[in-house]
Amino acid sequence: MKFPQDFIERVSEANNLVDIISQYTQLKPAGGGLMGRCPFPDHPEKTPSFSVSEAKQVYNCFGCHKKGNIFTFLQQYNGMSFKESIEYLADRAQIPIPKVAEADYQASDAANEKKKLITKANQIAQNYFKNNLKSLQPQHPVTEYVKKRGLSSEIVETFQIGYSTEAWEGLVQELETKKIPLKVAEEAKLIKARTNGKSGFFDLFRERLMFPIFSMMGEPIGFGGRIIAQGEPKYLNSPETPVFHKGKILYGLSQTAKFIRTEDQAIIVEGYMDLISLFAAGIKNVAATMGTALTFDHGKILSRMTKNVIVLFDGDSAGQEAAERSLPILLAADVYQRV
Ligand SMILES: [Zn+2]
Repeated sequence: MKFPQDFIERVSEANNLVDIISQYTQLKPAGGGLMGRCPFPDHPEKTPSFSVSEAKQVYNCFGCHKKGNIFTFLQQYNGMSFKESIEYLADRAQIPIPKVAEADYQASDAANEKKKLITKANQIAQNYFKNNLKSLQPQHPVTEYVKKRGLSSEIVETFQIGYSTEAWEGLVQELETKKIPLKVAEEAKLIKARTNGKSGFFDLFRERLMFPIFSMMGEPIGFGGRIIAQGEPKYLNSPETPVFHKGKILYGLSQTAKFIRTEDQAIIVEGYMDLISLFAAGIKNVAATMGTALTFDHGKILSRMTKNVIVLFDGDSAGQEAAERSLPILLAADVYQRV
């Protein structure tokens, strides 16, 4: 029997690898992650060489080289099959196991293939935007704008900030060169089909500073674009795509999760420029929402890293309302909040 991918993802999200492994060995914060003595009986050791990343939900032993995720841990440690590990974790998180017809599995496989292609298109776009910014002359207005906004080269590198030029088909051509089907890139919301009887596609992001949005695994899943010259809208975010769901992702976490863990506290702000300003000022335990209120899923993601959350929204009434709305959501996710 085969499980649909979204079910496997739900099971994986509902369980914390750290909780499972902590039953077998004591984990202590070290560097950006957790370290402990290897729990595997065939690798007795006195000095800890077994590392776990709570943010990425993976483990790696530097001694015996066992590594993997929550499912492989149960397989390696308890001798479970893949199916048994999923059933065990679904049961643990009280998620009902679906009875799905074969046709649905195939549909789910196809959806997965598409997600992979969309992620690849995003990776190509990220590199393209990054190289655009890098190749500008020092006195170019965009380079000067970046400097004026206080974005040092270190910050640009950390957050992989890029630039979409004024060209209408710059990214379209790049994707074509890299053999990405343009229909897929359209689903990734990177480009759009021309209308009014014209054929072909055009770039959605033009003349913007580009902020890639990364999954917890560090894959680019969407983009935020801030306009450089005049024009509307000031901020343009990727719409929802098969890989990008605003309600399930916080901006910056793939860079800041380790700081949130070390500080045992998360500061939530309302957008990527707010996050980057704090980060540049040395306050690095930050995550940002992207034009949505905090959701229960956000709370769950945070509660894996810390129970202490500070909501730092705008002082205007909209910001205050958003902060108040987040209170019951974070409480439900078992997180304590200050505003
Ligand atoms: Zn080991």
